[in-house]
This record gives sequence, structure tokens and C-alpha cells, in this order.
Amino acid sequence: MTSYSQVKEQLVAAAKDCGRDPSDITLIAVSKMHTVDEILPVLEAGQRVFGENRVQEAKEKFTILKEKYPNLELHLIGHLQTNKVKDAVALFDVIETVDRIEVAEKLADEMKKQNRFLPCFIEVNTGSEVQKSGIVSRETLSFAAKCLELGLNIVGLMCIPPVDDEPAPHFALLKKLAKQLNLKELSMGMSNDFPIAVQLGATYVRVGTAIFGQRNYA
Ligand SMILES: *Cc1c(COP(=O)(O)O)cnc(C)c1O
Repeated sequence: MTSYSQVKEQLVAAAKDCGRDPSDITLIAVSKMHTVDEILPVLEAGQRVFGENRVQEAKEKFTILKEKYPNLELHLIGHLQTNKVKDAVALFDVIETVDRIEVAEKLADEMKKQNRFLPCFIEVNTGSEVQKSGIVSRETLSFAAKCLELGLNIVGLMCIPPVDDEPAPHFALLKKLAKQLNLKELSMGMSNDFPIAVQLGATYVRVGTAIFGQRNYA
């Protein structure tokens, strides 16, 4: 698993470069569009935290894998439809994409029903892109307050910067918002920019392509 070990090395180097303890940053291996056969070697190499963006696909791949590797931690990093909330709460260990009030309400209900109070992140649309999900930055504080009222265990913020932008200002904004909210966790940085995200305070980085190679959308 050379690409996996390379990413791990780059992550450690990025942390050390800015005087951070590498163990304060968790690598999420984003395995969407990749098969169980591609995921297994990464598990065998010791990786235990994975990210998937679709509930159905994750269920098909990870139900068996979670039985085989009980300490596997699965993060939902994609848009969550309200009709998938039940399955999502049953399968995932962390929900990173709380992005609107309807889904926050459904999650809170379902977590009570299943007695599974999963850590959640609020997804922030730091670029205020109209087509993109996420809470716009100026509404993040009031949205977080609503989530807390609902009883959600909000541990941090996540963002996906606009593809054509410099990521650094988006990461800096996310960090500023998390500080205002007194939230510890920051999920930011992907294959192309995770070292910058580490510099700017990421506690989780979500890396797909650099570990698994290109996704085949055909
Ligand atoms: C696909 C995806 C990633 C991983 O992107 P890469 O560029 O392949 O590393 C990270 N975060 C989210 C939300 C994703 O959907």
C-alpha cells in the first residue's frame, strides 16, 4: 500500500512542519466509488477511519467490513437525504454533513429512537456557492445553537472549498467559526490540499484519490 503509506508520511510531515503533534490529526480514507477489494488492503495496512458519501453504497460495502473490523469508524461525508437518515444513523459512526434544519431534526429524532448519539459536524458552505449544500458562514452560529437545542452532539465543522478557489481562506474561515463556537474538531483538506489544511488547524483530513487512485464514474 505505497500510496497509503505516502499519504500517512505526508500527513506526519505536514504536522511537524507547523509544530503540531501528528496524532492530533486523523486521516479519513475516502473510499467512495471504490470496491471492498480495494478497501481491504488499506484496512490491512492499519487504517480504521473511512469516509463515504452515499448511504446505500456505504451500507453495501461496510456492513460486512464493520463486522470483520469492529473498531472501524465510518464517517458520512456526503449530502444526507431525510429518507436516508434512519439507515445513516444505524450504519455510520460520525455524521459530517448536518447542513439544514430538516436533517438536523430528523437526525435528533432518529438518534433518540436508536439510542445512538453520534458525533456530528456542521457542513459550512464557506464559499456561499448557491448550488452547494452547507450552512452559509453568517448563519453558522444560529444554526449551531438550533442543533444544540435539538440535542445533537455537534463536535466540529467541515467544509469543501469551491474547486477553483485558493483553499486557505476557506480553511481559515472555518477555523474562526469553530473558535467562536468553541468547537474542537475541523474536518477540512482533501488529496490536493490537506497539508495546507493541517497548517490551518485541521483535526480531520478527508483523502480519497491520493490513497485509492482516480474514481471511475463511468
Ligand atoms: C470525495 C470527497 C473527498 C475526497 O476527495 P479527494 O480529492 O479524492 O481526496 C473529501 N471530502 C468529500 C466531502 C468528498 O466528497
